[in-house]
Amino acid sequence: MRFHCHYEIDTLLDMSNRQLAQIISSPTDPQQARAELRQLRDSGQRYLVVGDCDSQKPDGMCAGHTTTSGEE
Ligand SMILES: [Zn+2]
Repeated sequence: MRFHCHYEIDTLLDMSNRQLAQIISSPTDPQQARAELRQLRDSGQRYLVVGDCDSQKPDGMCAGHTTTSGEE
């Protein structure tokens, strides 16, 4: 089972714009990213997964991925 790493949205909102930009690495500006994070939090999500995750729990955490290659 493999898991994507995730960040608590509250923690991300506490970070500086520079730290936030390094983690999210989105083309949007930090203010925009913060607005989106607040929207996610308001809708009940607590975590933000980093990376290309297609399996998430309702709170935003990675629900895990089964691997077929035999590793982990
Ligand atoms: Zn995942």
